Amino acid sequence: MLIELFPGTSFEEIEALIKRFRKMGFHVVRQGSLRLALVTGVDSLVVMDDFKCLPHIANVSPLTSRYKLASRQCREEDTIIDIKGVKIGGKNLLVVAGPCSVESRAQLEACAKVAKETGAQALRGGAYKPRTSPYEFQGMGMEGIHFISEVAKEYGLLSISEVMDIDQAKAASPFIDVLQIGARNVQNYSLLKELGKLPNPILLKRGFATTYQELLMAAEYIMVGGNPNVILCERGIRTFETYTRNTLDLNSVPALQELTHLPIVVDPSHGTGVRSLVPVMARAAVAAGASGILVEMHPDPDKSISDAAQTLSFDTFSKMMGEVNAIHRVMQTFK
Ligand code: PEP
Ligand code: MN
Repeated sequence: MLIELFPGTSFEEIEALIKRFRKMGFHVVRQGSLRLALVTGVDSLVVMDDFKCLPHIANVSPLTSRYKLASRQCREEDTIIDIKGVKIGGKNLLVVAGPCSVESRAQLEACAKVAKETGAQALRGGAYKPRTSPYEFQGMGMEGIHFISEVAKEYGLLSISEVMDIDQAKAASPFIDVLQIGARNVQNYSLLKELGKLPNPILLKRGFATTYQELLMAAEYIMVGGNPNVILCERGIRTFETYTRNTLDLNSVPALQELTHLPIVVDPSHGTGVRSLVPVMARAAVAAGASGILVEMHPDPDKSISDAAQTLSFDTFSKMMGEVNAIHRVMQTFK
């Protein structure tokens, strides 16, 4: 349920109301200066008329979707997540770049240098790798987490790395700025609930077969757990097409922007799986209005331990950055 307060309601009066609602068992989130969202699992039992009689309350309306805190209805303005001065969401453009897997400190250093020089703000690299075959490289684990944490700090970049379970999330949390939840774990609800308790913003990837609704309800699990900082990531879905690894669904950018206030970034690397297609689809993502892109690159792409076929060279990445920035500048001129 959404509660609008009368203009002029003081800070103390709002705090007292929030306290009162929390005592009643509601999860209360402030959405703007005069707006409170109250969410509960038993919405239907709530008699909204009772709330209208309380002081300072101008209007009460139901939050009708199955996700609530994530909905545009709940919060009209875009959520902007500020991490160490990097603003993520709305018209800002976040560029996340780096290897698929953390392989060595030297590999990360080389990627970080190019990322920084070309204007990217975040360094990615998987230390816990969700590999389809158990015989393939499973990642460097905590050693890799320390490498990405240290190298990102050294270059003034944010660090982003995937975690696959609760123990990994808790272990990586103090070292990594943004925890990534991959396509295979987007509906791992016990993990999502725990992420709600962590201080790190979460980059939540769409699954191979996740609808927009399901993605938003996955985000809701994290948000209602107490963590409002969720970045959604379109990374392609599985279709009958086999030429590309996945089908990058760019419909999701404007569609999700209608449904949610959360930032939406696009991963054209996993979305295509084909190196030659990545820069074009990165450009298309920015033209579609995405708040960022996530791109895999490597000092020697053919030697990438994982996802070599979709990994860009530094030269291709740098050229792509010029193009993407040019499109972003044009986008800024649109309303
Ligand atoms: C990744 O980003 O390296 C990754 C494994 O992505 P996804 O979960 O989208 O497959
Ligand atoms: Mn990858």
